[in-house]
Amino acid sequence: MPLPDSIAALISALAKLPGVGPRSAERIALYLAQTDSVAVKQLAETILHTREKIKFCEICGALTEQSPFSVCTDMRRDASIICVVERAVDILAIEKADSFRGKFHVLGGNISPLDGVEPEDLRIAELEKRLAKEPIKEIVIALGTDVEGDATGIYLAKRLARRGLTISRIAYGLPAGSGLEFADELTLSRALEGRTEMN
Ligand SMILES: [Zn+2]
Repeated sequence: MPLPDSIAALISALAKLPGVGPRSAERIALYLAQTDSVAVKQLAETILHTREKIKFCEICGALTEQSPFSVCTDMRRDASIICVVERAVDILAIEKADSFRGKFHVLGGNISPLDGVEPEDLRIAELEKRLAKEPIKEIVIALGTDVEGDATGIYLAKRLARRGLTISRIAYGLPAGSGLEFADELTLSRALEGRTEMN
């Protein structure tokens, strides 16, 4: 027996979410289709509310309800060191490890010519603008350990090189080929502490 069209449509919508495979999408869709409609309405409204509330920080690109977000405006944070991450969610991983006292910059991805991601698609020009007006002395590159993350780090080190600026990358205690979100807090703290200079 084929599934009703509305359930099939919900399954294909859910299957587009990260980490949700076709089996999970089917389970969630069937669950929602039979759940109390008030609870389903609340879930839908929570999703909508979150999306409407969240924006990108105008300085670093973090996800925030208020721009600039708290790390960017916190005077106790060290403004001379900027940690460059691929995605906004990576900031959460580093903040959870609680060993980094500087500020952040979200790149928005890695350079990947095969996927059509060129340097100008990333927030590199924004980082250069920050270098021109903020008292930055060190850039810590904390990208993933896959080929794209590696290549992007090397590209950044070349492009951002200037007198008086140290460019370092986090130590590679991180699992190979993965992003920051999969590293435990201790590994991440050590990776930051053991960072090595690239220039
Ligand atoms: Zn910010």
